[in-house]
Amino acid sequence: LPKAEDGHALDYVNNAADSNHEKYQEGRQCDGCAFWAGEESDGWGKCRHPEFSDVLVNANGWCSTWVPGG
Ligand code: SF4
Repeated sequence: LPKAEDGHALDYVNNAADSNHEKYQEGRQCDGCAFWAGEESDGWGKCRHPEFSDVLVNANGWCSTWVPGG
């Protein structure tokens, strides 16, 4: 799968700290999200959310659908 680009869906960014979204809170990122399916390689992995089924997301990424888990 290709790597997601910033803005792929749901205000996604590859580096959570770059987000200026009102819902973003420091420390939240993909590898701590319930949709994170685990790293595949080099910090990139699959996200179970349907909006990200066609890309890999970054462990350090974030989107506005983040929920605790991971
Ligand atoms: Fe990352 Fe979770 Fe959004 Fe998927 S749903 S892109 S794992 S924050």
